[in-house]
Amino acid sequence: MKYSKQRELILETLKNAETHLTAEEIHLQVRRELPSVSLGTVYRNLSLLVELGHIRTLKAAGSLSVRYDGRTDEHCHLICTKCGKITDIDLDVFTPFDVLVYEKTGFSVDDHDLVLKGVCAECANRKNS
Ligand SMILES: [Zn+2]
Ligand SMILES: [Zn+2]
Repeated sequence: MKYSKQRELILETLKNAETHLTAEEIHLQVRRELPSVSLGTVYRNLSLLVELGHIRTLKAAGSLSVRYDGRTDEHCHLICTKCGKITDIDLDVFTPFDVLVYEKTGFSVDDHDLVLKGVCAECANRKNS
């Protein structure tokens, strides 16, 4: 009973987050409501949620810490190499892409995990001004 409450809160925190959080960041937020929750518990629940398909993991460029994504529908990630910001983007490009892959290799694509690295608009503006 207690476990599922923690898990619900962790899931809710991720779904409501605009960014992709690390376990430590999730832990900080969850502790505001459940002060007794340990980081280990957060990790355990996160792995379980990934296993159940409620959330996804995301390995950010240049960072060793895994981030968690409350969105499980297909979308791409833009990672800024200057500030590290991760942005979700929906691109309707996969169907022709999958066809191309299949034509070249005979490989059937089931899932996409596309991460694009570059400079975000804010960092680009900062540089110009
Ligand atoms: Zn940036
Ligand atoms: Zn995402």
